[in-house]
Amino acid sequence: MFRISVLLLTVVMSSQQAFAQAPYPADSTLPLPEIEALVNPRVEVAEATKVAPLEAKEKELVKFLDDKKDEMITLLKEIVEINSGSRNAAGIESVGKILSARLVKLGFKEEFILAKAETLDVAGERKVQTSGPWRILRKAGKGKKVLLMGHLDTVFEPESGFLTFSEFRVAPSHDVDESGRMTHGPIHGAIGPGVADMKGGLVVIVFTLEALNETGLLKDKDVTVFFNGDEETGSKFSQDKMFAEAKRTDFCLNFEEGRDVPYGGIVLARKGTAGATITCRGRAAHAGNQHYLGINAAVELSHKLLELSRLSDYKRGITASPGVIDLGPFAKSNRVPDFARAEVDFRYLNPADTSYLRARVEEICRKVYLRNPWTGEAARTEVEFELGFPPMRPDTARYRWVGEVLALARLLNVPAGVKGSAGGSDASVAALAGCMTLDALGPVGGASHTTEEWVHLNTLPDRAKLTALILSRIWKKK
Ligand SMILES: [Zn+2]
Repeated sequence: MFRISVLLLTVVMSSQQAFAQAPYPADSTLPLPEIEALVNPRVEVAEATKVAPLEAKEKELVKFLDDKKDEMITLLKEIVEINSGSRNAAGIESVGKILSARLVKLGFKEEFILAKAETLDVAGERKVQTSGPWRILRKAGKGKKVLLMGHLDTVFEPESGFLTFSEFRVAPSHDVDESGRMTHGPIHGAIGPGVADMKGGLVVIVFTLEALNETGLLKDKDVTVFFNGDEETGSKFSQDKMFAEAKRTDFCLNFEEGRDVPYGGIVLARKGTAGATITCRGRAAHAGNQHYLGINAAVELSHKLLELSRLSDYKRGITASPGVIDLGPFAKSNRVPDFARAEVDFRYLNPADTSYLRARVEEICRKVYLRNPWTGEAARTEVEFELGFPPMRPDTARYRWVGEVLALARLLNVPAGVKGSAGGSDASVAALAGCMTLDALGPVGGASHTTEEWVHLNTLPDRAKLTALILSRIWKKK
């Protein structure tokens, strides 16, 4: 898999070396079975699952979608070239409007999501903010209730400069896998902001529902489509609403990109996320003349970051990674900084680890390292620990369902596999609400959150066919 991606990236973008592996620290062993299972879940269940052959209506679905590749690409290009970085409310609104208009034509009723959340401003003050409007589209009906989720925002703000959609083609790889087959066929792909994460998935949602409508399978069905615009900033505003929607729903599909060409991994387990913002305050001083008067907030913070990063524990499924360090607007090398702030990212597997992490973070941040030896004044530290997405734990029922989904993919002859992820997503919120949830039903792609983000365009109709068939079979369930 790595070889394919590396080949693709080098062919297409002559990029720097991709997929450098982070080394494991000397005091940590390779992941233990539980983590292994999360990263590469076993699916023997899937191999044993029997599914009924395609019915006439389902064959119509396939036919309808097989002809839609070009139209899907056109819609994808249109919404990719409207910037919808998480801070670009107008762009998010425009993308939502285009998608929503198509679903309204199918009989969906539009509702706006206006959400409130408490956030911290730059000075660390709590502020209640409102956000949105994003969209929920509902269609009332009978039978199993289905929730389809997709976020309208991307990580690319207008100033990222990554704004356009461009197609590329790559010849089949002459590398062979263990069984002697070429590792990939020809790839027709596209690069652009959000093509994989997850505007490709939004296109799949729209075309899936249009196909179901066209073939009459959508009639009298209870479907909710949830489009939020704050996923890339942790869905702080939309999580409560999403949780409530998932609570009243039986099945949820989320449309992040499928993983690992050419397999199209569906994500059935995820780590939880949390973050800490640590603000250290000291005393400013001239770095030469009055060094002795200063208390260096950057040094105090550094001590704490070293301690915090030691919380990484692969055996336990925990990682800690300082990602932002900020010395404030007055930072200069000739000035002892009186302000230093860092944001630290945490990932974990077990819900119980949230209280462990919170306690350890608070304990580490309480400890004082720097004290001015003449004045006795100590550095001060404030810490905010915030939970992000909950973990999406693998469970038996979801394993059974994914087995059926993989069997449906085989029936359609479209690639699909399964995968765990250490990244948070809205799917975790739906899963926490007790709704049967799968993620990464979007087209297969990669390099998300980088300017090399790309998507395999052939998998647009593939994923729509698979989603349509999954829904058709859900509605047959008692
Ligand atoms: Zn995403």
